[in-house]
Amino acid sequence: MRVASVLDWGLTSWSKQVTLTLISYQRGTPVEKFPIIDTHVHLWNPKQLRYPWLDKVPALNRPYLLKDYISASGELAIKSMVFMECDVHMDDGLKEAEWITELAKTEPKIKGIVAYAPLERGEQAEPFIEKLANNPLVKGLRRLIQYESTDFCIEPEFVSGVRMLSRYGLSFDICIFHPQLSNTIRLVEQCPDVQFVLDHIGKPDIKNQLFDPWKQEIKRLATLPNVCCKISGMVTEADFKTWMPTDLQPYIEHVITCFGFDRVMYGSDWPVATQASSYLLWFRTLKNAVSGCSAEEQQKLFQSNGSRFYRLNS
Ligand SMILES: [Zn+2]
Repeated sequence: MRVASVLDWGLTSWSKQVTLTLISYQRGTPVEKFPIIDTHVHLWNPKQLRYPWLDKVPALNRPYLLKDYISASGELAIKSMVFMECDVHMDDGLKEAEWITELAKTEPKIKGIVAYAPLERGEQAEPFIEKLANNPLVKGLRRLIQYESTDFCIEPEFVSGVRMLSRYGLSFDICIFHPQLSNTIRLVEQCPDVQFVLDHIGKPDIKNQLFDPWKQEIKRLATLPNVCCKISGMVTEADFKTWMPTDLQPYIEHVITCFGFDRVMYGSDWPVATQASSYLLWFRTLKNAVSGCSAEEQQKLFQSNGSRFYRLNS
């Protein structure tokens, strides 16, 4: 494993941003010039669509629009973005995809949409999926699993809903908390023709530096060929205020070791991640974590794997 060690960064939280900035200047191409495909971008407008969960998260309960994303990521060379559904009210699911489709006409960097679909309805969800699949920008679907019971993702109706995605050439984004990993493996095993990506490395408990059984389960999941891993959403599983790059490093190293550099992709999880980090700080943290890896490996992580998985050029 050639992922750089940052264990010698005995930094206090206040100096983290400054130190990472200095490190980025010491290494070849400045991060600002490095082309990025961001595979996990949320945009929402509570004035236009309903997002019931935002009522419980006042810090995020305002519109987050394209102009806000552009200003947050401003210094970086974002080449393409994949819009990720925002746990919108189920009756607004199609409207959300339509809104982003319209937006993509003015912002060509939006190259893909992962839309919401009520897959727990099994075959009944087909008309919904069909509508989405007719839109060439829709590359995949997501139905959040994280707030459901641990058995939700292996209930027969849900499994048959997910299996249908292979008929339409759509992928599935798995968003879970770590206790749901073991049943997630059973879901993926039952859908060998569907391409999956595990969001946010399966949301391990980084705050408490818990590794087991997440570590073993990630290893088992990675043995299945039809699943990739999105390195994103980590800062919000750590302590929002006091996290350090060293808290994230062993988790990053483990997923790269298990999935390899052909099956990992970068995502910002903006603006959810703003609760714990600026856009730039998360990007730099991951970039520095892999700074000892080859240019080709970094290119796969930050660009080509995401583009291939979501078929952004088709
Ligand atoms: Zn997200």
